[in-house]
Amino acid sequence: MHKLTERVDVDNLWITFMNHLDFWKKTKDELKKRLPAHTFDTWLEPIEVLEIGAPGAVLQVPSQFFSEWVDTHYSKHILNTINDMGVKTKNVKFVVSGEEFKVEKEESNGVTSAPRQIRPRHLNASYTFERFIEGPNNQFAKAASQKVSDSPGSQSFNPLVIYGGVGLGKTHLLHAIGNELIETSPKTKIVIASSEKFTLDFISSIQKNNTAQFSKSYRKADVLLIDDIQFFQKKEQTQEQFFHTFNELYQLGKQIVMTADRYPGEMSGLQDRLLSRFQSGLSVDVQPPNYETRVAILMEKAEINGLDLPYDMIEFIAMHLKNNVRELESTIIRLLAHASLSQVDIDFPLVKKVLKERLGDGISADISAEDIINRVADLTNVRTDDIVGPSRRKEIAEARQISVYLCRELLGLSLSTIGMHFGGRDHTTALHACKKVKNSLKSDKRFNRIVGKVKDDFSFAIL
Ligand code: ADP
Ligand code: MG
Repeated sequence: MHKLTERVDVDNLWITFMNHLDFWKKTKDELKKRLPAHTFDTWLEPIEVLEIGAPGAVLQVPSQFFSEWVDTHYSKHILNTINDMGVKTKNVKFVVSGEEFKVEKEESNGVTSAPRQIRPRHLNASYTFERFIEGPNNQFAKAASQKVSDSPGSQSFNPLVIYGGVGLGKTHLLHAIGNELIETSPKTKIVIASSEKFTLDFISSIQKNNTAQFSKSYRKADVLLIDDIQFFQKKEQTQEQFFHTFNELYQLGKQIVMTADRYPGEMSGLQDRLLSRFQSGLSVDVQPPNYETRVAILMEKAEINGLDLPYDMIEFIAMHLKNNVRELESTIIRLLAHASLSQVDIDFPLVKKVLKERLGDGISADISAEDIINRVADLTNVRTDDIVGPSRRKEIAEARQISVYLCRELLGLSLSTIGMHFGGRDHTTALHACKKVKNSLKSDKRFNRIVGKVKDDFSFAIL
Protein backbone atom coordinates (compact mmCIF):
# COMPACT_ATOMS: atom_id res chain seq x y z
CA MET A 1 0.00 0.00 0.00
CA HIS A 2 1.29 3.43 -0.93
CA LYS A 3 0.98 6.34 1.37
CA LEU A 4 1.41 9.59 -0.38
CA THR A 5 1.03 11.97 2.50
CA GLU A 6 0.45 11.54 6.18
CA ARG A 7 -3.17 10.68 6.05
CA VAL A 8 -5.71 12.30 8.33
CA ASP A 9 -8.35 9.70 8.59
CA VAL A 10 -11.36 11.98 8.63
CA ASP A 11 -13.22 11.28 5.46
CA ASN A 12 -10.96 12.47 2.75
CA LEU A 13 -9.96 15.68 4.37
CA TRP A 14 -6.39 14.93 3.54
CA ILE A 15 -6.95 15.36 -0.15
CA THR A 16 -7.21 19.08 0.38
CA PHE A 17 -3.48 18.93 1.14
CA MET A 18 -2.87 17.61 -2.22
CA ASN A 19 -3.97 18.69 -5.62
CA HIS A 20 -6.29 16.15 -7.25
CA LEU A 21 -4.26 16.38 -10.45
CA ASP A 22 -1.11 15.29 -8.64
CA PHE A 23 -3.01 12.55 -6.94
CA TRP A 24 -4.32 11.23 -10.25
CA LYS A 25 -0.84 11.39 -11.75
CA LYS A 26 0.48 9.24 -8.92
CA THR A 27 -2.46 6.87 -9.24
CA LYS A 28 -1.66 6.52 -12.92
CA ASP A 29 1.98 5.80 -12.16
CA GLU A 30 0.80 3.01 -9.92
CA LEU A 31 -1.63 1.66 -12.52
CA LYS A 32 1.20 1.67 -15.00
CA LYS A 33 3.06 -0.76 -12.79
CA ARG A 34 0.04 -2.96 -12.36
CA LEU A 35 -1.18 -3.27 -15.95
CA PRO A 36 0.47 -4.40 -19.20
CA ALA A 37 2.17 -1.50 -21.00
CA HIS A 38 -0.07 -1.65 -24.05
CA THR A 39 -3.21 -1.68 -21.94
CA PHE A 40 -1.98 1.23 -19.92
CA ASP A 41 -0.98 3.28 -22.97
CA THR A 42 -4.24 2.63 -24.75
CA TRP A 43 -6.83 2.79 -22.03
CA LEU A 44 -5.41 4.47 -18.94
CA GLU A 45 -2.99 7.08 -20.18
CA PRO A 46 -5.67 9.17 -21.99
CA ILE A 47 -7.86 9.40 -18.88
CA GLU A 48 -7.99 12.74 -17.15
CA VAL A 49 -9.33 13.50 -13.72
CA LEU A 50 -12.16 15.87 -12.98
CA GLU A 51 -12.82 15.08 -9.34
CA ILE A 52 -11.67 12.65 -6.70
CA GLY A 53 -13.27 12.42 -3.33
CA ALA A 54 -15.23 10.28 -0.92
CA PRO A 55 -18.44 10.21 -2.98
CA GLY A 56 -16.60 9.00 -6.02
CA ALA A 57 -14.06 9.76 -8.66
CA VAL A 58 -15.09 11.46 -11.88
CA LEU A 59 -12.76 10.73 -14.75
CA GLN A 60 -12.83 12.11 -18.24
CA VAL A 61 -12.38 9.92 -21.30
CA PRO A 62 -12.22 10.76 -25.00
CA SER A 63 -15.24 8.91 -26.38
CA GLN A 64 -18.37 6.98 -25.56
CA PHE A 65 -16.85 3.72 -26.73
CA PHE A 66 -13.79 4.39 -24.62
CA SER A 67 -16.01 5.07 -21.63
CA GLU A 68 -17.89 1.79 -22.00
CA TRP A 69 -14.74 -0.17 -22.55
CA VAL A 70 -12.86 1.23 -19.57
CA ASP A 71 -15.92 0.98 -17.38
CA THR A 72 -16.32 -2.71 -18.18
CA HIS A 73 -12.70 -3.72 -18.13
CA TYR A 74 -10.70 -1.43 -15.88
CA SER A 75 -12.96 0.37 -13.43
CA LYS A 76 -12.18 -2.21 -10.72
CA HIS A 77 -8.43 -1.75 -11.24
CA ILE A 78 -8.81 1.98 -11.05
CA LEU A 79 -11.03 1.89 -7.99
CA ASN A 80 -8.75 -0.50 -6.13
CA THR A 81 -5.69 1.50 -6.98
CA ILE A 82 -7.26 4.75 -5.80
CA ASN A 83 -8.20 3.03 -2.55
CA ASP A 84 -4.76 1.52 -2.17
CA MET A 85 -3.30 4.95 -2.68
CA GLY A 86 -5.17 6.07 0.39
CA VAL A 87 -8.47 7.59 -0.73
CA LYS A 88 -11.60 5.77 0.27
CA THR A 89 -13.61 6.15 -2.88
CA LYS A 90 -16.79 4.20 -3.45
CA ASN A 91 -17.11 4.38 -7.18
CA VAL A 92 -15.60 5.60 -10.38
CA LYS A 93 -17.63 7.42 -12.96
CA PHE A 94 -16.56 8.17 -16.52
CA VAL A 95 -17.70 11.15 -18.51
CA VAL A 96 -16.96 11.73 -22.15
CA SER A 97 -14.95 14.90 -22.69
CA GLY A 98 -17.26 17.70 -23.54
CA GLU A 99 -20.25 16.14 -21.84
CA GLU A 100 -21.53 18.29 -19.09
CA PHE A 101 -21.35 16.56 -15.78
CA LYS A 102 -23.10 17.44 -12.61
CA VAL A 103 -21.86 16.55 -9.19
CA GLU A 104 -23.90 17.95 -6.36
CA LYS A 105 -21.96 20.74 -4.75
CA GLU A 106 -22.36 19.43 -1.22
CA GLU A 107 -21.06 16.07 -2.32
CA SER A 108 -17.82 17.45 -3.56
CA ASN A 109 -16.85 19.17 -0.34
CA GLY A 110 -13.17 19.55 0.12
CA VAL A 111 -12.36 18.43 -3.33
CA THR A 112 -10.80 20.61 -5.94
CA SER A 113 -12.19 20.37 -9.40
CA ALA A 114 -11.10 21.24 -12.89
CA PRO A 115 -12.76 24.17 -14.63
CA ARG A 116 -16.01 23.22 -16.30
CA GLN A 117 -16.87 23.88 -19.85
CA ILE A 118 -20.05 25.70 -20.53
CA ARG A 119 -21.64 23.82 -23.34
CA PRO A 120 -25.02 22.29 -23.85
CA ARG A 121 -25.47 18.77 -22.66
CA HIS A 122 -25.46 16.33 -25.55
CA LEU A 123 -23.04 18.40 -27.59
CA ASN A 124 -20.10 16.17 -28.37
CA ALA A 125 -16.92 18.24 -28.17
CA SER A 126 -14.94 15.93 -30.41
CA TYR A 127 -17.23 16.44 -33.40
CA THR A 128 -15.59 19.54 -34.84
CA PHE A 129 -15.08 20.84 -38.37
CA GLU A 130 -11.36 20.41 -37.86
CA ARG A 131 -11.77 16.72 -37.33
CA PHE A 132 -14.17 16.29 -40.19
CA ILE A 133 -12.30 14.98 -43.20
CA GLU A 134 -13.50 16.51 -46.39
CA GLY A 135 -13.93 14.69 -49.68
CA PRO A 136 -16.08 14.99 -52.79
CA ASN A 137 -18.72 12.98 -50.92
CA ASN A 138 -19.34 15.56 -48.20
CA GLN A 139 -17.74 18.80 -49.36
CA PHE A 140 -20.97 20.62 -50.03
CA ALA A 141 -22.56 19.50 -46.76
CA LYS A 142 -19.51 20.67 -44.83
CA ALA A 143 -19.39 24.01 -46.63
CA ALA A 144 -23.09 24.62 -45.96
CA SER A 145 -22.66 23.70 -42.29
CA GLN A 146 -19.72 26.06 -41.95
CA LYS A 147 -21.67 28.81 -43.60
CA VAL A 148 -24.46 28.30 -41.10
CA SER A 149 -22.09 28.55 -38.16
CA ASP A 150 -20.59 31.72 -39.67
CA SER A 151 -23.91 33.44 -40.09
CA PRO A 152 -26.75 31.55 -38.47
CA GLY A 153 -30.24 32.48 -39.58
CA SER A 154 -29.32 33.70 -43.07
CA GLN A 155 -32.29 33.03 -45.24
CA SER A 156 -31.07 30.80 -48.02
CA PHE A 157 -29.59 28.30 -45.57
CA ASN A 158 -32.54 28.15 -43.25
CA PRO A 159 -33.51 25.50 -42.44
CA LEU A 160 -30.48 23.43 -43.37
CA VAL A 161 -31.18 19.73 -43.78
CA ILE A 162 -28.25 17.33 -43.94
CA TYR A 163 -29.34 13.94 -45.22
CA GLY A 164 -27.76 10.61 -46.15
CA GLY A 165 -27.09 7.03 -45.08
CA VAL A 166 -25.95 5.70 -41.74
CA GLY A 167 -22.49 6.54 -40.42
CA LEU A 168 -21.63 9.16 -43.01
CA GLY A 169 -21.08 12.13 -40.72
CA LYS A 170 -24.47 13.83 -40.38
CA THR A 171 -24.41 13.92 -36.61
CA HIS A 172 -20.76 14.96 -36.70
CA LEU A 173 -21.59 17.99 -38.85
CA LEU A 174 -24.58 18.93 -36.72
CA HIS A 175 -22.43 18.97 -33.58
CA ALA A 176 -19.61 20.73 -35.40
CA ILE A 177 -21.98 23.64 -36.07
CA GLY A 178 -22.70 23.82 -32.33
CA ASN A 179 -19.06 23.52 -31.33
CA GLU A 180 -17.99 26.18 -33.79
CA LEU A 181 -20.63 28.59 -32.51
CA ILE A 182 -19.53 28.07 -28.91
CA GLU A 183 -16.04 29.15 -29.93
CA THR A 184 -16.91 32.06 -32.19
CA SER A 185 -20.07 33.37 -30.64
CA PRO A 186 -20.40 32.15 -27.06
CA LYS A 187 -23.58 34.09 -26.44
CA THR A 188 -25.54 32.22 -29.06
CA LYS A 189 -28.04 29.93 -27.37
CA ILE A 190 -27.71 26.49 -28.84
CA VAL A 191 -30.29 23.81 -28.29
CA ILE A 192 -29.36 20.40 -29.57
CA ALA A 193 -31.46 17.23 -29.41
CA SER A 194 -32.26 14.15 -31.36
CA SER A 195 -35.83 13.98 -32.56
CA GLU A 196 -36.22 11.09 -30.11
CA LYS A 197 -35.20 13.31 -27.24
CA PHE A 198 -37.54 16.02 -28.46
CA THR A 199 -40.31 13.43 -28.50
CA LEU A 200 -39.48 12.09 -25.04
CA ASP A 201 -39.21 15.58 -23.58
CA PHE A 202 -42.57 16.37 -25.04
CA ILE A 203 -44.21 13.23 -23.69
CA SER A 204 -42.76 13.70 -20.25
CA SER A 205 -43.92 17.32 -20.22
CA ILE A 206 -47.45 16.10 -20.91
CA GLN A 207 -47.17 13.62 -18.06
CA LYS A 208 -45.89 16.27 -15.72
CA ASN A 209 -48.36 18.83 -16.91
CA ASN A 210 -45.77 21.39 -17.88
CA THR A 211 -45.83 21.63 -21.64
CA ALA A 212 -45.28 25.36 -21.26
CA GLN A 213 -41.87 24.67 -19.79
CA PHE A 214 -41.14 22.27 -22.63
CA SER A 215 -41.99 24.89 -25.26
CA LYS A 216 -39.91 27.47 -23.50
CA SER A 217 -36.83 25.31 -23.34
CA TYR A 218 -36.84 24.69 -27.06
CA ARG A 219 -38.04 28.09 -28.17
CA LYS A 220 -35.28 29.97 -26.38
CA ALA A 221 -32.84 28.72 -29.01
CA ASP A 222 -30.92 30.98 -31.36
CA VAL A 223 -29.81 27.87 -33.13
CA LEU A 224 -31.85 24.68 -32.95
CA LEU A 225 -30.05 21.50 -33.97
CA ILE A 226 -32.27 18.44 -34.37
CA ASP A 227 -30.78 15.07 -35.24
CA ASP A 228 -32.55 12.30 -37.16
CA ILE A 229 -35.91 13.86 -37.94
CA GLN A 230 -37.06 10.58 -39.49
CA PHE A 231 -38.06 9.57 -35.96
CA PHE A 232 -40.84 12.11 -36.14
CA GLN A 233 -42.56 9.89 -38.66
CA LYS A 234 -46.05 8.89 -37.58
CA LYS A 235 -45.87 10.81 -34.31
CA GLU A 236 -48.64 13.24 -35.07
CA GLN A 237 -48.75 15.13 -31.82
CA THR A 238 -45.00 15.54 -31.61
CA GLN A 239 -44.95 16.76 -35.19
CA GLU A 240 -47.54 19.32 -34.25
CA GLN A 241 -45.32 20.54 -31.43
CA PHE A 242 -42.29 20.62 -33.64
CA PHE A 243 -44.23 22.54 -36.28
CA HIS A 244 -45.00 25.28 -33.80
CA THR A 245 -41.48 25.37 -32.42
CA PHE A 246 -40.12 25.50 -35.94
CA ASN A 247 -42.43 28.30 -37.03
CA GLU A 248 -41.82 30.44 -34.03
CA LEU A 249 -38.05 30.20 -34.34
CA TYR A 250 -38.11 30.58 -38.08
CA GLN A 251 -40.19 33.74 -37.92
CA LEU A 252 -37.75 35.21 -35.44
CA GLY A 253 -34.95 34.54 -37.91
CA LYS A 254 -33.39 31.80 -35.78
CA GLN A 255 -31.38 29.08 -37.44
CA ILE A 256 -32.67 25.52 -37.63
CA VAL A 257 -30.51 22.61 -38.73
CA MET A 258 -31.80 19.06 -39.06
CA THR A 259 -30.43 15.74 -40.16
CA ALA A 260 -32.35 12.91 -41.80
CA ASP A 261 -31.65 9.50 -43.21
CA ARG A 262 -33.13 10.46 -46.60
CA TYR A 263 -34.15 13.43 -48.66
CA PRO A 264 -37.01 15.12 -46.77
CA GLY A 265 -39.22 14.98 -49.86
CA GLU A 266 -39.00 11.20 -49.77
CA MET A 267 -40.06 10.82 -46.17
CA SER A 268 -43.38 9.24 -45.52
CA GLY A 269 -45.38 9.63 -42.35
CA LEU A 270 -44.66 13.34 -42.00
CA GLN A 271 -47.32 15.98 -42.41
CA ASP A 272 -47.15 17.79 -45.72
CA ARG A 273 -46.92 21.20 -44.13
CA LEU A 274 -43.93 20.01 -42.10
CA LEU A 275 -42.29 18.60 -45.19
CA SER A 276 -42.74 21.79 -47.11
CA ARG A 277 -41.18 23.72 -44.20
CA PHE A 278 -38.20 21.36 -44.21
CA GLN A 279 -37.72 21.85 -47.91
CA SER A 280 -37.98 25.62 -47.84
CA GLY A 281 -34.29 26.09 -47.10
CA LEU A 282 -31.34 24.07 -48.27
CA SER A 283 -30.97 20.28 -48.32
CA VAL A 284 -27.48 18.84 -48.71
CA ASP A 285 -26.49 15.20 -48.86
CA VAL A 286 -23.55 13.17 -47.58
CA GLN A 287 -22.41 10.19 -49.65
CA PRO A 288 -20.11 7.27 -48.85
CA PRO A 289 -16.46 8.38 -49.00
CA ASN A 290 -14.21 7.47 -51.92
CA TYR A 291 -10.98 5.56 -51.48
CA GLU A 292 -8.73 8.58 -50.87
CA THR A 293 -11.12 10.06 -48.34
CA ARG A 294 -11.31 6.72 -46.54
CA VAL A 295 -7.53 6.63 -46.27
CA ALA A 296 -7.50 10.18 -44.91
CA ILE A 297 -10.24 9.36 -42.38
CA LEU A 298 -8.41 6.26 -41.20
CA MET A 299 -5.21 8.21 -40.74
CA GLU A 300 -7.02 10.84 -38.72
CA LYS A 301 -8.84 8.30 -36.56
CA ALA A 302 -5.64 6.33 -35.94
CA GLU A 303 -3.91 9.50 -34.85
CA ILE A 304 -6.72 10.61 -32.54
CA ASN A 305 -6.69 7.21 -30.89
CA GLY A 306 -2.93 7.10 -30.58
CA LEU A 307 -2.63 4.12 -32.88
CA ASP A 308 0.48 3.87 -34.97
CA LEU A 309 -0.82 2.08 -38.03
CA PRO A 310 1.46 1.51 -41.03
CA TYR A 311 0.27 3.00 -44.29
CA ASP A 312 -0.13 -0.30 -46.10
CA MET A 313 -2.52 -1.52 -43.41
CA ILE A 314 -4.51 1.69 -43.69
CA GLU A 315 -4.76 1.16 -47.44
CA PHE A 316 -5.81 -2.40 -46.89
CA ILE A 317 -8.64 -1.40 -44.57
CA ALA A 318 -9.72 1.39 -46.90
CA MET A 319 -9.83 -1.06 -49.79
CA HIS A 320 -12.23 -3.33 -47.96
CA LEU A 321 -14.51 -1.07 -45.96
CA LYS A 322 -16.30 1.10 -48.41
CA ASN A 323 -19.62 2.29 -47.20
CA ASN A 324 -19.52 3.72 -43.78
CA VAL A 325 -17.25 6.01 -41.81
CA ARG A 326 -18.42 4.64 -38.50
CA GLU A 327 -17.10 1.23 -39.58
CA LEU A 328 -13.72 2.73 -40.35
CA GLU A 329 -13.61 4.30 -36.94
CA SER A 330 -14.73 1.22 -35.05
CA THR A 331 -12.15 -0.87 -36.90
CA ILE A 332 -9.43 1.34 -35.48
CA ILE A 333 -10.90 1.06 -31.99
CA ARG A 334 -11.22 -2.69 -32.33
CA LEU A 335 -7.63 -3.03 -33.46
CA LEU A 336 -6.58 -1.13 -30.37
CA ALA A 337 -8.76 -3.28 -28.19
CA HIS A 338 -7.45 -6.53 -29.62
CA ALA A 339 -3.87 -5.43 -29.40
CA SER A 340 -4.38 -4.22 -25.90
CA LEU A 341 -6.30 -7.20 -24.55
CA SER A 342 -4.25 -9.95 -26.02
CA GLN A 343 -1.07 -7.89 -25.95
CA VAL A 344 -0.15 -8.58 -29.52
CA ASP A 345 1.35 -6.26 -32.09
CA ILE A 346 -0.87 -4.95 -34.79
CA ASP A 347 0.08 -6.86 -37.93
CA PHE A 348 -1.66 -7.97 -41.09
CA PRO A 349 -3.18 -11.14 -39.64
CA LEU A 350 -4.74 -9.07 -36.86
CA VAL A 351 -6.04 -6.47 -39.32
CA LYS A 352 -7.58 -9.26 -41.38
CA LYS A 353 -9.11 -10.87 -38.34
CA VAL A 354 -10.72 -7.63 -37.23
CA LEU A 355 -11.98 -6.91 -40.73
CA LYS A 356 -13.41 -10.37 -40.98
CA GLU A 357 -15.28 -9.87 -37.72
CA ARG A 358 -16.78 -6.73 -39.12
CA LEU A 359 -17.64 -7.96 -42.55
CA GLY A 360 -18.52 -11.56 -41.81
CA ASP A 361 -19.46 -13.46 -44.91
CA GLY A 362 -20.14 -10.32 -46.87
CA ILE A 363 -16.46 -10.08 -47.69
CA SER A 364 -16.27 -11.31 -51.21
CA ALA A 365 -19.31 -9.25 -52.12
CA ASP A 366 -17.14 -6.27 -51.32
CA ILE A 367 -14.74 -7.11 -54.13
CA SER A 368 -16.25 -7.10 -57.59
CA ALA A 369 -15.29 -8.66 -60.91
CA GLU A 370 -14.44 -5.11 -62.03
CA ASP A 371 -11.95 -4.78 -59.17
CA ILE A 372 -10.21 -7.93 -60.32
CA ILE A 373 -10.22 -6.98 -63.99
CA ASN A 374 -8.79 -3.55 -63.12
CA ARG A 375 -6.02 -5.11 -61.09
CA VAL A 376 -5.09 -7.62 -63.78
CA ALA A 377 -5.13 -4.81 -66.32
CA ASP A 378 -2.67 -2.87 -64.16
CA LEU A 379 -0.32 -5.81 -63.81
CA THR A 380 -0.38 -6.91 -67.43
CA ASN A 381 -0.49 -3.50 -69.09
CA VAL A 382 -3.56 -4.50 -71.02
CA ARG A 383 -6.50 -2.11 -71.09
CA THR A 384 -9.64 -3.19 -69.21
CA ASP A 385 -11.70 -2.54 -72.34
CA ASP A 386 -9.55 -5.04 -74.19
CA ILE A 387 -9.85 -7.63 -71.43
CA VAL A 388 -13.61 -7.65 -71.76
CA GLY A 389 -13.48 -7.00 -75.52
CA PRO A 390 -13.29 -9.30 -78.53
CA SER A 391 -9.55 -9.22 -79.33
CA ARG A 392 -7.74 -12.57 -79.55
CA ARG A 393 -4.25 -11.12 -79.36
CA LYS A 394 -2.09 -13.34 -77.20
CA GLU A 395 -1.34 -10.95 -74.31
CA ILE A 396 -4.93 -9.76 -74.23
CA ALA A 397 -6.34 -13.29 -74.28
CA GLU A 398 -4.00 -14.25 -71.46
CA ALA A 399 -4.99 -11.28 -69.31
CA ARG A 400 -8.62 -12.19 -69.95
CA GLN A 401 -8.06 -15.83 -68.97
CA ILE A 402 -6.28 -14.83 -65.78
CA SER A 403 -9.09 -12.47 -64.87
CA VAL A 404 -11.71 -15.16 -65.51
CA TYR A 405 -9.77 -17.64 -63.41
CA LEU A 406 -9.47 -15.17 -60.52
CA CYS A 407 -13.15 -14.26 -60.64
CA ARG A 408 -13.90 -17.94 -60.25
CA GLU A 409 -11.30 -18.50 -57.50
CA LEU A 410 -11.74 -15.36 -55.44
CA LEU A 411 -15.38 -14.54 -55.93
CA GLY A 412 -16.78 -18.02 -56.57
CA LEU A 413 -18.92 -16.62 -59.39
CA SER A 414 -20.70 -19.09 -61.63
CA LEU A 415 -19.23 -19.65 -65.09
CA SER A 416 -22.17 -18.03 -66.84
CA THR A 417 -22.05 -14.96 -64.58
CA ILE A 418 -18.35 -14.67 -65.32
CA GLY A 419 -19.10 -14.94 -69.02
CA MET A 420 -21.44 -11.98 -68.70
CA HIS A 421 -18.75 -9.83 -67.09
CA PHE A 422 -16.47 -10.57 -70.03
CA GLY A 423 -18.49 -9.16 -72.89
CA GLY A 424 -21.27 -11.76 -72.86
CA ARG A 425 -19.14 -14.84 -73.45
CA ASP A 426 -20.72 -18.18 -72.68
CA HIS A 427 -19.88 -20.51 -69.85
CA THR A 428 -17.80 -22.95 -71.94
CA THR A 429 -15.39 -20.14 -72.80
CA ALA A 430 -15.08 -19.28 -69.10
CA LEU A 431 -14.50 -22.93 -68.26
CA HIS A 432 -11.83 -23.22 -70.91
CA ALA A 433 -10.04 -20.15 -69.52
CA CYS A 434 -10.06 -21.57 -65.99
CA LYS A 435 -8.59 -24.88 -67.13
CA LYS A 436 -5.96 -23.19 -69.22
CA VAL A 437 -4.78 -20.97 -66.35
CA LYS A 438 -4.72 -23.85 -63.90
CA ASN A 439 -2.47 -25.70 -66.28
CA SER A 440 -0.18 -22.77 -66.93
CA LEU A 441 0.23 -22.19 -63.22
CA LYS A 442 2.06 -25.50 -62.98
CA SER A 443 4.98 -24.19 -64.99
CA ASP A 444 4.60 -20.58 -66.09
CA LYS A 445 6.34 -18.12 -63.74
CA ARG A 446 4.67 -15.04 -65.19
CA PHE A 447 1.20 -16.51 -64.63
CA ASN A 448 2.18 -17.41 -61.10
CA ARG A 449 3.48 -13.94 -60.40
CA ILE A 450 0.37 -12.16 -61.66
CA VAL A 451 -2.12 -14.53 -60.05
CA GLY A 452 -0.13 -14.48 -56.81
CA LYS A 453 -0.04 -10.70 -56.76
CA VAL A 454 -3.78 -10.27 -57.30
CA LYS A 455 -4.53 -12.91 -54.68
CA ASP A 456 -2.24 -11.08 -52.30
CA ASP A 457 -3.95 -7.76 -52.94
CA PHE A 458 -7.34 -9.27 -52.34
CA SER A 459 -6.04 -11.82 -49.86
CA PHE A 460 -8.79 -10.82 -47.61
CA ALA A 461 -11.35 -12.44 -49.86
CA ILE A 462 -9.68 -15.80 -49.63
CA LEU A 463 -9.09 -15.93 -45.89
P1 ADP B 1 -24.42 9.63 -39.10
O1 ADP B 1 -25.00 10.62 -38.15
O2 ADP B 1 -24.45 10.11 -40.51
O3 ADP B 1 -25.00 8.26 -38.96
P2 ADP B 1 -22.01 10.13 -37.61
O4 ADP B 1 -21.91 11.60 -37.76
O5 ADP B 1 -22.50 9.60 -36.31
O6 ADP B 1 -22.88 9.48 -38.79
O7 ADP B 1 -20.59 9.50 -37.98
C1 ADP B 1 -20.18 8.23 -37.53
C2 ADP B 1 -18.74 8.32 -37.05
O8 ADP B 1 -17.89 8.56 -38.15
C3 ADP B 1 -18.54 9.45 -36.08
O9 ADP B 1 -17.67 9.04 -35.07
C4 ADP B 1 -17.90 10.55 -36.90
O10 ADP B 1 -16.99 11.32 -36.15
C5 ADP B 1 -17.18 9.78 -37.95
N1 ADP B 1 -17.15 10.49 -39.23
C6 ADP B 1 -18.12 10.51 -40.17
N2 ADP B 1 -17.73 11.24 -41.24
C7 ADP B 1 -16.49 11.70 -40.95
C8 ADP B 1 -15.56 12.51 -41.66
N3 ADP B 1 -15.81 12.99 -42.89
N4 ADP B 1 -14.37 12.77 -41.07
C9 ADP B 1 -14.10 12.28 -39.84
N5 ADP B 1 -14.93 11.51 -39.13
C10 ADP B 1 -16.13 11.21 -39.67
MG1 MG C 1 -26.43 10.34 -36.71
